[in-house]
Amino acid sequence: MISVNSLQERLAARARISREELKWLWHNASNEELQGLANLVRERFHQPQIATYLLMRIINYTNICVAKCDYCSFYRLPKAADGYLRSKEWMFERIDELVELGGDLFAFNGGFNPQLKIDYYVDLFGSIRQRYGERIEFYAMTVVELIYIARVSKLTVAEALQLLKAAGVRWITGGGAEILADSFRLRHSPLKYTVKEYYAAQRDILEAGLKSTATMVIGFDESLDERLEHLELLRDFQDSTNNGLFSFLCWTYKPYNNELGGQEVSADEYLRHLALCRIYLDNFVHIRTSVLTQNANALKGLSFGADDFDIPWEDEVTQKAGAIIEQNVESVLGYAKNEGFAPQYRHVAKEPGLISIK
Ligand code: SF4
Repeated sequence: MISVNSLQERLAARARISREELKWLWHNASNEELQGLANLVRERFHQPQIATYLLMRIINYTNICVAKCDYCSFYRLPKAADGYLRSKEWMFERIDELVELGGDLFAFNGGFNPQLKIDYYVDLFGSIRQRYGERIEFYAMTVVELIYIARVSKLTVAEALQLLKAAGVRWITGGGAEILADSFRLRHSPLKYTVKEYYAAQRDILEAGLKSTATMVIGFDESLDERLEHLELLRDFQDSTNNGLFSFLCWTYKPYNNELGGQEVSADEYLRHLALCRIYLDNFVHIRTSVLTQNANALKGLSFGADDFDIPWEDEVTQKAGAIIEQNVESVLGYAKNEGFAPQYRHVAKEPGLISIK
């Protein structure tokens, strides 16, 4: 019979728990019990009161996209009056601004823009690496964008990756995962690739020698079983790649200004889910909590198993959907300190920016 005590003993002995046991915890464990179990796994990797963070900016260089996900508030179809493709100068200004503040990580995120083939990206990322060298690091695109770009360029994902790598790309992100269950993707984003295609591309990224991450978004209309399927497939994938993905980040759906609508998940539900992720994903060193979509509540996540967070400076995708970004580093760090944590900056670039925000 499953009980919190028996699971506690097993986790303390570094044993794994099953999907069924995770489901049982979701239905039966109190918040305090979930915190305790999540911290047993967190402590395998991290000091109890230490959390790491970074200052990052998402650069939305185009909003033109043909994927038409019904939960998206950001995309515009080709020829839409308010569709855009930003210039390199526009992007450089945004990078310069964050570097001045001490940040060194950027994430490029656009859409499935049929006009942009691999040559565009090789030129863009080559220019960025040439201009900034090792002073910054960047996530070039999400896994699903990578699949799309390879396809419209008539390349395999592996071929596209070789060209990107030669241009200076080192990181792709696991974005575009949302819920990795085909039943979910058929309902909401049928043009955004299957679970199998997603993981095949993740494997290609790691085999090409690039780094990647895992993500998840909750709060659409997904069932508990679809959430658990996401976690189960992810843990299996991570096992099969010798723990190849750097981190796991879960954020929450914002239901405004899009076709799907709905309601936001509660702060409590996010924290409980984060604890489940930490308990189950025992082959991930880093579990990240989402300041972008949870604001101050995200820092409570550090007591529910998370060890790392972004201080986001800008992200039009989630802001269009209702996210409110607090551009105040000290204030966000204060939330972490109020929870009893000592936040430490985690530089991603090899030569961190000259100005320290600590
Ligand atoms: S979520 Fe991404 S892929 Fe889907 S419509 Fe929006 S921009 Fe396009």
